[in-house]
Amino acid sequence: MAVQIDQDACIACGACADACPVDALTINEHAEVNADECIDCGSCTSTCPVDALSL
Ligand code: SF4
Ligand code: SF4
Repeated sequence: MAVQIDQDACIACGACADACPVDALTINEHAEVNADECIDCGSCTSTCPVDALSL
């Protein structure tokens, strides 16, 4: 598992990347997750202003 990102909803604000303790998220056109790095901690999901992240 890794966090799921709704690419249509994501506005690339970067809040989730700042919240991730293992730097699993990068922001390009949208947020992208490195599934090998994500530890499913959930820290990012509550930071997203458009609710684009889910576990
Ligand atoms: S669930 Fe945790 S480890 Fe995975 S991307 Fe979000 S903040 Fe990072
Ligand atoms: S916090 Fe939400 S809107 Fe912002 S970059 Fe992450 S997924 Fe996209």
